[in-house]
Amino acid sequence: MNKIILIVAVLGLMLCACNEKRNSESKTQPSTQKPKVDIPDFNADSAYFYVKSQVDFGPRVPNTNSHTKCAEYLFSKLKSFADTAMVQSFKTKAFDGTVLNSKNIIGVFNPDKQKRVLLCSHWDSRPFADHDPDPSLQNTPIDGANDGASGIGVLLELARLMAISKPEIGIDIIFFDVEDYGPPKNHPNSEVKDQYGLGSQYWSKNPHDPDYTADYGILLDMVGASNARFYMEGFSMEYASGILKKVWSIANRAGFSEYFVFDQVGYIDDDHKYINEIAKIPTIDIIHLDPESSNGSFFEYWHTTGDNLSVIDKQTLKVVGQTLLNVVFQEK
Ligand SMILES: [Zn+2]
Repeated sequence: MNKIILIVAVLGLMLCACNEKRNSESKTQPSTQKPKVDIPDFNADSAYFYVKSQVDFGPRVPNTNSHTKCAEYLFSKLKSFADTAMVQSFKTKAFDGTVLNSKNIIGVFNPDKQKRVLLCSHWDSRPFADHDPDPSLQNTPIDGANDGASGIGVLLELARLMAISKPEIGIDIIFFDVEDYGPPKNHPNSEVKDQYGLGSQYWSKNPHDPDYTADYGILLDMVGASNARFYMEGFSMEYASGILKKVWSIANRAGFSEYFVFDQVGYIDDDHKYINEIAKIPTIDIIHLDPESSNGSFFEYWHTTGDNLSVIDKQTLKVVGQTLLNVVFQEK
């Protein structure tokens, strides 16, 4: 028995060596493969500038002047980069009956391409810091530098780069409004479902193009804080596990394994839930989850006044932005 194993092992070694030789020979032969695609370099300074520009308007809470002004800024920027851009204006009712004047902002790249990927994030910021450790601040609207502005900053930088060099597929970018106007903690309606993600719910029922569809979608939420961890979120696994694994693998190949972790953590009611369930587009969520933070779910300053520009880390913006570029520029 031992001998046979030895022979097999020797044969195996020879086979391995042959394969290696063949591999090394093929390297010297002229390649018939297509040239490698040129993937743009994500500029984190530029993305940071877009994050700061949003925060500088003040909290982007619906029905405020800061919200109106920021919408104008975001639309003019996206319009300057995309082939076409539009604003989807609508009114929706918050948990307390307040009618919210809302705007989803949409940019289209390569409108004639059949194969399309949807990239999205929310641009509004939360009207109250209900998880702030200081109870006297819990009614204060938040800057939402991470929860809101970071995802939009990354997408605006992507849009800028795609205006210079286009991917081979079509890309649609949507900045969703009124994601974060859900009831404050301890409010009697706080357990009622579907009170967050009002902009994505509206769009999923009324897409900007009635026949709109995409091969898949990627949502960004809280993608700018230092030492971010992006775990594999439950609804993303349920509806789009192939996409999730592909994006995580591409991030890991780019050297971002500390950020994109192959572990599943929880189910998050975020905009992607409605895109999956109503618009039926398989969509994943890249979201900073942290079961060990003081709130037990998200990054440490989630829904506090501490979610300001000081939490934003250019390295995290780079990791997420470069991953998205690697994903969309590899698609054919
Ligand atoms: Zn939030």
